[in-house]
Amino acid sequence: MEIPVSLSTERLINELQTHGVRLLDPKAGVESRRGGAGPSDHKALTVDGVTFMAPVHTAPAFESPYTIEKPDASGASQVWREGVAMGEVRFPARPRFYDLTTADGVPYSKIATLHGRDVLATTVLQSCIRYQSRTKTCQFCAIGQSLAAGRTIERKTPRQLAEVARAAVELDGVKHMVMTTGTPRGSDRGAEILCESASAVKAAVYLPIQAQCEPPADDEWFIRLKTSGVDTLGMHLEVVTPELRARIMPGKAEVKVERYLEAYAAAVPVFGRGQVSTYILAGLGDTAQAILDISARLIALGVYPFVVPFVPISGTPLESHPTPSADFMHAILKPLSKMIVEGGLKAADIKAGCGKCGACSALSTYERTLAS
Ligand code: SF4
Repeated sequence: MEIPVSLSTERLINELQTHGVRLLDPKAGVESRRGGAGPSDHKALTVDGVTFMAPVHTAPAFESPYTIEKPDASGASQVWREGVAMGEVRFPARPRFYDLTTADGVPYSKIATLHGRDVLATTVLQSCIRYQSRTKTCQFCAIGQSLAAGRTIERKTPRQLAEVARAAVELDGVKHMVMTTGTPRGSDRGAEILCESASAVKAAVYLPIQAQCEPPADDEWFIRLKTSGVDTLGMHLEVVTPELRARIMPGKAEVKVERYLEAYAAAVPVFGRGQVSTYILAGLGDTAQAILDISARLIALGVYPFVVPFVPISGTPLESHPTPSADFMHAILKPLSKMIVEGGLKAADIKAGCGKCGACSALSTYERTLAS
């Protein structure tokens, strides 16, 4: 029987994403990743049919007022806060493709992982010119940690990606794929290896793909990405205030916000309105108004602004940086969801990628609440 949830779904997700959770059974659900790009030190949870990522291995999560008990026989777990039951969550099942290994002996789970409920995610190149030096590295990034710990391989070949993608579709029903990359040397900023990878996956299996990279120096790459089989494109600002960008991500901030805006304007006609997106980490110092202001410009361009709460990853320079409060996220996501819906760009209409998955933020749940 469903136990009544004391908070709305979007507020409960906000609470668990900003505070993190303490798991009474750390082995429940799909093993969480530590380090790497994207959501790390998180665990996938499902509430009211919505799958989201909640931090479990971060410093704030160890102090979180929220605990999740061991799942019962049906896989359901109660969420508690100070003795009050706040709702019920479930843990998505471990994907079957994790049990497979390539012919040359690489476990599939080192090539790509399951994100959220039905997203296959890979970091095609697990190294980055921005990560080589402490003065240039993005302070929130852990791309080198999972590589150093042997949990992934540095370069996933197109052939390996195609093999894993086919298995993930056939065995686990994944619905779309995220291909991100560290930034290599060269003015394409990773677009070339994303093209090769997308072509190989599309030749093997039907799977909508989002590619993610910094804006390439030449806008022609947008057409090449699209013709290679990339359905949607993410170019991620992360932080929006120029002075904060220069401090928190000194290497990446060499590509100015204005260049991102130019690149979005060039990419939207290629991929379509709402099929180009950005990722903004709320909680690193940008004000709510700064995030809403740039989001208004992005929406006008046809770019989906995927705003997620910052989660500090252990071992990074920002590991002790506080997470944003649930109220701060609410102050952004509530008006932002309205702006997005009024601008005609809904998460549900995105063909592939983070905005469609939505597991790192309550944003798409706010959008659905508005629609209902
Ligand atoms: S929103 Fe993006 S990074 Fe987060 S779980 Fe989904 S695919 Fe992964």
